[in-house]
Amino acid sequence: MDKRIAIIGGGFAGMTAAYELGKLGYQTFLFERMSELGGLAGTFPIEGTRLERGYHHWFTSDTHIIAQMEELGLGDRVQWIPSRTGWFDQGRIWNMVSPLDVLRLGTLPFVDRLRLGIVVAYLTYLQRDKRNLAKYEKITAAEWWKKYGGRNAWEKVWSPLFRGKFGAEAENIPMEWHWYKIVLRIGSRKGITKEALGYPRGSFQVLIDALEQAVKKHGGKIFLGATVARVVVENGVAIGLRFADDDTSQRAQRELAPNESFVRFDRIICTAPSFAALKIIHEFPPEYVAKMNAAKYMAAVLLILKMKHPLSPIYWLNIADRSIPFVATIEQTNFIPPEVYNNKHILYVSNYLTPASPYFQMSRDELFNAYLPHLQKINPRFSPDWVEEMWHFKEAAAQPVVPLNYSKMIPEHRTPIRNLYLANTTQIYPEDRGTNYSVRLGQDIARMVDEDVRRGA
Ligand SMILES: Cc1cc2nc3c(=O)[nH]c(=O)nc-3n(C[C@H](O)[C@H](O)[C@H](O)COP(=O)(O)OP(=O)(O)OC[C@H]3O[C@@H](n4cnc5c(N)ncnc54)[C@H](O)[C@@H]3O)c2cc1C
Repeated sequence: MDKRIAIIGGGFAGMTAAYELGKLGYQTFLFERMSELGGLAGTFPIEGTRLERGYHHWFTSDTHIIAQMEELGLGDRVQWIPSRTGWFDQGRIWNMVSPLDVLRLGTLPFVDRLRLGIVVAYLTYLQRDKRNLAKYEKITAAEWWKKYGGRNAWEKVWSPLFRGKFGAEAENIPMEWHWYKIVLRIGSRKGITKEALGYPRGSFQVLIDALEQAVKKHGGKIFLGATVARVVVENGVAIGLRFADDDTSQRAQRELAPNESFVRFDRIICTAPSFAALKIIHEFPPEYVAKMNAAKYMAAVLLILKMKHPLSPIYWLNIADRSIPFVATIEQTNFIPPEVYNNKHILYVSNYLTPASPYFQMSRDELFNAYLPHLQKINPRFSPDWVEEMWHFKEAAAQPVVPLNYSKMIPEHRTPIRNLYLANTTQIYPEDRGTNYSVRLGQDIARMVDEDVRRGA
């Protein structure tokens, strides 16, 4: 196939699209503005291995990415490990590993615990049909729970969990999100006790590396540090890409079309977040722009501590105590053994917020100082001299937050500009964004491009 396909973005959606199109015989060109592949699931070096900048794991329902691991010969790298989750509230940690723990949750009156169990079972087993979407996307989870599951269940159980995921937006999330999460996560468990989470031996980097090799094996070209500055559109058709002025971006221009002002492609796939896509594509009609702006993004701020001792025995600790300015601690070494990291203990302190928040603006050290007294609430023995090294990462497009009735507002993959496709996390629905669904997105978009090329569309 002599068609040249450009892919903007080297996260899991972009890498998968390039891989799938390469398998079909297309010439693929992937442009990533960062110096490494992986996007939001990218990693950094630590103690002789790699670690995600933001904590990552898989659920048993993440079948697309597990199948991709197998296809790339990495099936034996997938480990399933029982997870330990909990709540921090009223000065102590509450285990939340199995449904039985809900029955033991002392912060909730017993009758509310019982009601909660019944409602979760109802959602999991009686409401799993996808046609229920229409019903659950009309109402926020906060309203739904207060109405049907009990105000206490919302305040004491779900609200902290939602805060851990959506920060200040916790009250505005459609019930659809929660309903589908319950259907997928609890519904995919083998028994009713512990949930096992997946993680690749060697970190997510092993899949990133394998995808890079596979793209190249099929003749694809990957340009790192290559920022696309503009999608060139002529008479309603996307015809090429212009690159930013910096040297690494211009390398693509020099290599692919040294004597032109832009590089021509037959089809272009954009996997950048919507706000970033709108900066480089100016010709969308207002109706499509409105769809692209319907979902808002939460930013994430991550402080990662490499420590001499564990903070707690819990992997994922939701912070229900509102006096604490972060929403969860995720202790990697309560999931993957410390031996993998030279016996160090690794802790993410996680916050979801808007880029205007003071916590988003803080430097690494300011953030650590602001968090320190609160980490000591979780473990009073925690002290700064436990910390051997610290990292600080910020992601502006960490989590899309969709409005009510979003199914009618999702931007189409085939954009109103001919030969231009959009494939980003705002189009994953009703599931929540995740690497699994970005792999599915990449596969879907590759299929769509191939169909259109074959039809001559
Ligand atoms: C804190 C955190 C925790 C998470 N935990 C999990 C988890 O446990 N499990 C899980 O499966 N998923 C998790 N996710 C979600 C997962 O990482 C993402 O859903 C997935 O990686 C998104 O992939 P993507 O390719 O769709 O988008 P992205 O990874 O955002 O890729 C888009 C790429 O486009 C590039 N780009 C943007 N503009 C341009 C431009 N103009 N030119 C060139 N390149 C450009 C960006 O640099 C980026 O690399 C988590 C995410 C975060 C932030």
